[in-house]
Amino acid sequence: MSRMTSSARPLLNRRLAEFGTTIFAEMSALALRTGSINLGQGFPDTDGPKEVREAAVKALRDGRGNQYPPGPGVPELRTAIAAHQQRRYGLSPDPDTEVLVTAGATEAIAAALLALLEPGDEVVALEPYYDSYAACVALAGATRIPVTLRPREGRFHLDLDELRDAVTDRTRLLLINTPHNPTGTVLTREELSVIAALAVERDLLVVTDEVYEHLVYDDAEHVPLSTFPGMRDRTVTISSAGKTFSFTGWKVGWVTAAPALVTAVRSAKQYLTYVASGPFQYAVAEALALPDTYFEGFRADMLAKRDVLAAGLAEAGFEVFRTAGTYFITTDIRPLGAVLSKDGDGFAFCRALPERAGVVAIPNAVFYDHREAGAPFVRFAFCKQTAVLEEAVSRLKTLSA
Ligand SMILES: *Cc1c(COP(=O)(O)O)cnc(C)c1O
Repeated sequence: MSRMTSSARPLLNRRLAEFGTTIFAEMSALALRTGSINLGQGFPDTDGPKEVREAAVKALRDGRGNQYPPGPGVPELRTAIAAHQQRRYGLSPDPDTEVLVTAGATEAIAAALLALLEPGDEVVALEPYYDSYAACVALAGATRIPVTLRPREGRFHLDLDELRDAVTDRTRLLLINTPHNPTGTVLTREELSVIAALAVERDLLVVTDEVYEHLVYDDAEHVPLSTFPGMRDRTVTISSAGKTFSFTGWKVGWVTAAPALVTAVRSAKQYLTYVASGPFQYAVAEALALPDTYFEGFRADMLAKRDVLAAGLAEAGFEVFRTAGTYFITTDIRPLGAVLSKDGDGFAFCRALPERAGVVAIPNAVFYDHREAGAPFVRFAFCKQTAVLEEAVSRLKTLSA
């Protein structure tokens, strides 16, 4: 017989109560039921480089990583992460004290926030934000203070005065994401320098999610926040192999930061997964050492896909914001007209889109605390085969036909 719960107290704790269900599950089920093309969730539909897959197979066969790897990550990977930072940004983190391997960027975010926050602390984060940020801030007992990115002249902008005004005496940490999911904005050197100066002035920690560091287009440039004056000892930088090498299922991510910060993050990380992804760590070490031609080819491929989808969405009648980084395009549905756009309600639009056009997208409002600020925006992922994108585009064109 099942045990009765002793009171009316809900099973899910109060900190997580508001995060009950995700839109991704609902939309993926809808995609399956309607045979729709799923441009909702952001994972590639082709796997990463063959030689990297073979490196994982070899590690597994050779018995490397099949038992608990070292807590900070295998030395080969920590060395490769440091070398990659040197090659791209001229940084030279010590692989032993300034690099920590995690179970994807997701665990790095969780461990950093759980390690660095006290209950009652405030965290200023860019809104819309990646869904795990809000939940992890809540798990840490802290409070999130969103600063809303707003569209202007074809892209989303951070209002630096709003950011400054959001900082209070209770603010402990800025949580930054660039290139930014879901808006596709890449913070400029000027914007980053203001963020850095604010962090220094108010003595804040900064956690920066840079998992799309390799996916920047046109004249956009990814500059790590940790490279700005005064940032080295206050910044936790997070990245991951999932997006850069198209192996989102491997869950190999990492933190780079000054030794005291790495030690703090590791204190939380050791009680989450302890370690993860043993054989894959060796394979990612080889991936990070791939020649520049891999990274350039990957970027060029994604850029071409962006252009296919952006042109198709514009032709179908959406307002398309310029994606300078990531593999997402944010659109405004209102130009489709009141009927088609359900009066600018992205939720209703996305629930109807699979039946109407055979395509799944995500309403950006799920990434907002100020739901109304995100209401008319809808996100499409373009990390899919070109033929799939072309089919999606031709289906979407029937919308306004
Ligand atoms: C995909 C994604 C992550 C998660 O990365 P994993 O390595 O798969 O855990 C974190 N942040 C952002 C912004 C992402 O888009």
